[in-house]
Amino acid sequence: MNLQPSFSSRRDFLRACLLAGAALTVPRWVLGTLVSPAPVVAPLLFPDLNIYPRSTWSALAPRLSLIRPATGFSRLTIHHAGNIMNTHVQPEDVVADLNGILAAHLQKNYGDIGYHFIVDYAGRIWEGRSLAFEGAHVSGMNKQNMGVMLLGNFEEQQPSADQIDSLFQLVDSLQRQYALPHGSIYGHCDLGQSVCPGKHLYAPFVAELKQS
Ligand SMILES: [Zn+2]
Repeated sequence: MNLQPSFSSRRDFLRACLLAGAALTVPRWVLGTLVSPAPVVAPLLFPDLNIYPRSTWSALAPRLSLIRPATGFSRLTIHHAGNIMNTHVQPEDVVADLNGILAAHLQKNYGDIGYHFIVDYAGRIWEGRSLAFEGAHVSGMNKQNMGVMLLGNFEEQQPSADQIDSLFQLVDSLQRQYALPHGSIYGHCDLGQSVCPGKHLYAPFVAELKQS
């Protein structure tokens, strides 16, 4: 799955929108019957961030009988993927990673991928489970808890600068838009028995975000 043509940058995205707009000004009869259906350009979730919508990496609908509607958000928890190290920067590799995690979470009857957002090694931000739904990422503590996960194992590897940059931007944006109170940012290890999100992510970065 090649996402580069329409989503490699915000500039490209805007250019695609302009081109789509220009096409609309051409009378339909000029285009004849060879016109293929207009591509669906999913809206950006947040205007200040370039987030890849869930529809760009999965066509599987969430299993609604297994997930709960969100009742607002008052906190945010940061995770790592754990397991093997991950330095994937090609979109198709990341899409495969996301689908692997989705498949694993479906097998656990989570109903959808458990996290609301995923940040890859290149710093791309991917929508996971829609914020319309409660997440599934901290045992017994998912209520009003946004889940943000960084691909990688930060017990074993360092996060990339781009990944950290995006994490800070994303957390800042979510904090503002959802009016998350001071002291409402956590690492998974703050809420449960886990080394997640890993020492190379927690101590230098999550600890800083917890002060915001
Ligand atoms: Zn975790």
